[in-house]
Amino acid sequence: MGYLSRTARSFLLSELVSGMSVTLKAFFKPKATINYPYEKGPLSPRFRGEHALRRYPNGEERCIACKLCEATCPAEAITIEAEPRDDGSRRTTRYDIDMTKCIYCGLCEEACPVDAIVEGPNYEFATETREELMYNKDKLLANGDRWESVLARRLELDAPYR
Ligand code: SF4
Ligand code: SF4
Repeated sequence: MGYLSRTARSFLLSELVSGMSVTLKAFFKPKATINYPYEKGPLSPRFRGEHALRRYPNGEERCIACKLCEATCPAEAITIEAEPRDDGSRRTTRYDIDMTKCIYCGLCEEACPVDAIVEGPNYEFATETREELMYNKDKLLANGDRWESVLARRLELDAPYR
């Protein structure tokens, strides 16, 4: 009986037909894949991507050089030097992040009392050399300027849960 049934299945191509029916059903379903990089998937407001230093709307940098982010960083990736300005305010003269050490834990962002250092939505910052991943203050402020509207929106969405 088993032999007859196997032979019948071979002649009637029933396995091929059932395989094709599965293909046909999947053909009309919504696609699970996206056409990256032209299409991108949704990101949580808490996604921890490339770092940025933010400014206030008047252009003044938010960072007050308290060094809490440097102290809390488990990877010791942050290096800060600071000096008082002529007006008495304290600001960083150096703010470096070694992105090759960073583990994207988000503790620097959590520690910052003025929402100056944040991790943004950008995950497309691969480089060809390690040197390009040594971020300085100019690079981080430029990231902040570039992403500010998105960063502010992300912080707003996350605020009820902080
Ligand atoms: S995300 Fe974590 S490891 Fe990276 S700089 Fe911030 S505190 Fe350090
Ligand atoms: S980024 Fe925030 S936590 Fe770090 S030194 Fe500046 S104010 Fe302090």
